[in-house]
Amino acid sequence: SEYPNIMARFNVSPETVNCRCCPDAPRVPELGYRVCRQRRGITSRVVERLIEKRRQYKQRMKVAEAMSGPQSPDSAQNASSYSLRRASLKWLLVCCFGYTGYKNARFGKIEAHEAINALAREKLLVAKEMAESKGYRILHALVDSLYVTRQGATREDYERLAQEIERVTNLPLAIEAVYRYVVFLPSRQNAEIPVPNRFFAVAEDGELKVRGLECRRHDTPPIVVRMQQQVLKVLSEAHDFKSYCLKLEEARRILDRYLDRLADGSVDVEELIISKRLTRSPEAYQKDTATAIVARQLHRSGVKLRPGETIEYIITDAGSKFPDDRFRAFTLWEAWRGYDVRQYRQALLEAFKPFEHFAPLRTGLACPQASPTRTSHLTRPHRSLPWVTAID
Ligand SMILES: [Zn+2]
Repeated sequence: SEYPNIMARFNVSPETVNCRCCPDAPRVPELGYRVCRQRRGITSRVVERLIEKRRQYKQRMKVAEAMSGPQSPDSAQNASSYSLRRASLKWLLVCCFGYTGYKNARFGKIEAHEAINALAREKLLVAKEMAESKGYRILHALVDSLYVTRQGATREDYERLAQEIERVTNLPLAIEAVYRYVVFLPSRQNAEIPVPNRFFAVAEDGELKVRGLECRRHDTPPIVVRMQQQVLKVLSEAHDFKSYCLKLEEARRILDRYLDRLADGSVDVEELIISKRLTRSPEAYQKDTATAIVARQLHRSGVKLRPGETIEYIITDAGSKFPDDRFRAFTLWEAWRGYDVRQYRQALLEAFKPFEHFAPLRTGLACPQASPTRTSHLTRPHRSLPWVTAID
């Protein structure tokens, strides 16, 4: 995250924002707040040290990773321990930022929180303009990262861009990955608007990055997760639009096999389990949602459930008149109940849609040109540029 870096680099801390000693300090964009120039802020000093520690762990992690192998059995374990330490420091940093906006916190001050946000927006804007002035197109800009592309740009070009942005924003910036292609998916609310938190991308080395798809969610039945993972693996072999279309044909056959197995009843019931977290106690549910029905079933059979616990169930007959027949707690499920083929079929089809987002329809034999608005989401090569090397 970029916020802690802003706190460290720009001395933003509750006691440095609008201090009394520096009436002529430069103003924070948008807000006009001042930041102290004479004293180092306490949270700035704290996050600075945490950031530095994370950087050191990253180096050690890389060394350990490079050494790991049969000769050095401890290295892999060391690498994972450094990685965990980095992760816990990251959460401390996130809290340092978050708590500036919390009025009951000793080091909370909403103006500091606002100043950090304003600086982050400003820096992102500067980065965007810099990239555009060099002929890059911005695909997406998030809190702390940019997705940019330019026809024919090489890795070196992107490295240079990252350095220039680093120079003008005074914030560390690293290239996270260079992608062969990325597919930004539309928001669920509005099919016309692609969103940055639902996408899949394939890096140069074939590694997948997936966000917001069903296979990343904890409540998705394993059968859907596995189908998506297999399909993504096949699609990750594609290098351009044409090979993507060919791979998609292969992917459709994978989907078909899943649908066939579902229809002929040869799916293991474990593959169909849906997990949900209880947000309240079983009696407190008013409506007949799946969670409520299943929680009551378990409650009746003497299972003590508390909010926060996870329940597992199978969709048995979602259209039934009797709520109790619609879903069945997994532990109470008996074979004669079967499962709701239509519902699971629908779930599989729904989970396949992202892959067909801008590809030809199934009936098409050739690979027709996708509509211009759609092809624009598939760009190559394409890189993401998160702000920060030390924190990612
Ligand atoms: Zn001051």
